[in-house]
Amino acid sequence: MLLAIAVILPTVCLLWFMSQAVTNERLAIRQKLIDSYTARGQEIFLKDLQFPVNDQNQYSAYISFDHNDNIIYPARSLQISYTPEYNIQKAWQLEYLDKKYDDAIKEYNSISVSSSILEISYDCKISVIRCLSKQDKNSEAIQKCRQFLNREPNVLQIPDVYIANAELMLINLYVKTNDSNLSAELQKLFSEVSKYKMPTESQVFILDELIKIAQQTGLAQKFTTEVVQAQKFNLAAEMSITVADFVEKENSKSQLENVFFKFPFLQPLYGIYLQKSDNKMLAVFSSDEITKFWQQKINDFNDKLVFCRIYDETGQLLAGAKSTEGELFATMNLKNNFTGWKTELYLRSGVFKEAADKKRFIYIWVTSIVIVLMISSTLLASKAVLKQAKLNKLKNDFIATITHELKTPLSSIRLFVDTLLENKCQSRQQETEYLQLISKENSRLSRLIDNFLTFSRMERNKQVFEMAQVSPVEIANSAAEALQAKFEKANVLFTTNIAKPLPIVKADKDAMTTVLVNLLDNAYKYSNQSKQIELKVYTQNSDVCFEVRDNGIGMTRRQMKKIFDRFYQVDTSLSRRAEGAGLGLSIVKFIIDAHKAKIDVESKIGKGSVFTVRLSHS
Ligand code: ADP
Repeated sequence: MLLAIAVILPTVCLLWFMSQAVTNERLAIRQKLIDSYTARGQEIFLKDLQFPVNDQNQYSAYISFDHNDNIIYPARSLQISYTPEYNIQKAWQLEYLDKKYDDAIKEYNSISVSSSILEISYDCKISVIRCLSKQDKNSEAIQKCRQFLNREPNVLQIPDVYIANAELMLINLYVKTNDSNLSAELQKLFSEVSKYKMPTESQVFILDELIKIAQQTGLAQKFTTEVVQAQKFNLAAEMSITVADFVEKENSKSQLENVFFKFPFLQPLYGIYLQKSDNKMLAVFSSDEITKFWQQKINDFNDKLVFCRIYDETGQLLAGAKSTEGELFATMNLKNNFTGWKTELYLRSGVFKEAADKKRFIYIWVTSIVIVLMISSTLLASKAVLKQAKLNKLKNDFIATITHELKTPLSSIRLFVDTLLENKCQSRQQETEYLQLISKENSRLSRLIDNFLTFSRMERNKQVFEMAQVSPVEIANSAAEALQAKFEKANVLFTTNIAKPLPIVKADKDAMTTVLVNLLDNAYKYSNQSKQIELKVYTQNSDVCFEVRDNGIGMTRRQMKKIFDRFYQVDTSLSRRAEGAGLGLSIVKFIIDAHKAKIDVESKIGKGSVFTVRLSHS
């Protein structure tokens, strides 16, 4: 019960506190981590966040607007409007359906001459060359082409689109005729077409044609740079056209400036409206470019505890881990070019479990150590308390025994003395008998007091032994002498049997005599009428043995175990009759222990007992 209260209760409390502490600490660590990573996230994702929007090399495509928000680039296709009086339809039918090229040429020429609109005239002139080429009248076609390109003095500035078309036609004619001018003309058009002021769509078409021609004629190798550049230009231009079509249709120019938005194309593209000097432009970036930018930031942020994800303004995941394992701890709305976008910060799953497990392991250890310490200190404390209680009991027993033991001889002495004083004795012999009884009681008192004093010194650890080289014979003789008077009675047969020679032992002679006196006295006390007591001294192995044997009442095995305890007396009528306080054998044991000697008892009820003291002589 005491142990339960002293150990189990505090242990349970301690465990509870520990688990609370672990939980609290885990929460505190978690909060601390979250705070620090949120701060880091803000630093990386919010502070000075600038995408290099002005780096034209990064654009996948772009659209520029004039100050009226009309698209300047990509240039849109021109639609020449033929007034009904020019029967261009007829010319087209003759050329494309009827394939009557001569008639078509006639028709084109007549429109060209009569038209006051220059574009119509140029268009028809080129159509004539085309028809000549279709008829394989190559040299005539080449000549007309050159004429057109040389721009006769009377001709005004020819728009680039007609020049480009005429040049392409000339190149085709050179291919057909294997003309040596092909290479130079091809190079010229490759380098000039993207600078011509003409619909971007037409530029793309011409460049595509040039690439095809270069590949077919084996000139692609010679013009690798030109071909690659043309392909790149076409890719961007085509994308610009698609975006321009979308912008015109959707009228999405109202989008915020300097903020990325996503195009709803299959191919993931992002646009951003920028104000450049006096005109506006729409830069188009592939999602790869933007992902690359974010990946840098993500790498700065991610570590073994946290990871993040970037979502665009449509809420679609753009960059960061795809797996959803983790615990979301912060969402940040991005700013500047990425207004409307957001980033989510996650704690990796299992992070805390691992840390907590480690902590728990430490706590379990600490708790176990504390519990062990608590149990052992409680045990020590209870041992001390028990010892104290035992001491108190001892003290009480001691006082009770002393008073009880002293009372009997003192009252009988008083009785005898009173009888003697009152001269009530009938004879001189009775007087002597009384005086002998008084003397006997007196010596009993002295022995009792001697024992008490020895015991008291022993208990206070004040008993000092004077070890010296002593002959065992001397010890045996002095013990025998002390009891000589007692043992001279008719009913006692006392024999000593001392072997010779005996080695000298190291002992306190008086103390060892006390041991033997106590043993012999007990042999006397606990024997019935015809007492046979023997004191034997002999050597065995390296020991000198003192053996006290009697034919007395004997003891049970259980009693034998207890006789050396303080105040223990076997509860028999003889014990009660015999004088003693249950201290004799405890004094014997104390002296034996101080001599590092041993004492054995053998006994049988009704047969007698043998006490053997073994004292080492080496
Ligand atoms: P006491 O003063 O009672 O003799 P002891 O410590 O000397 O105290 O002995 C303790 C008890 O051991 C005795 O009360 C007695 O019952 C028992 N005892 C001791 N010696 C003998 C013996 N030789 N034969 C039988 N019993 C003995």
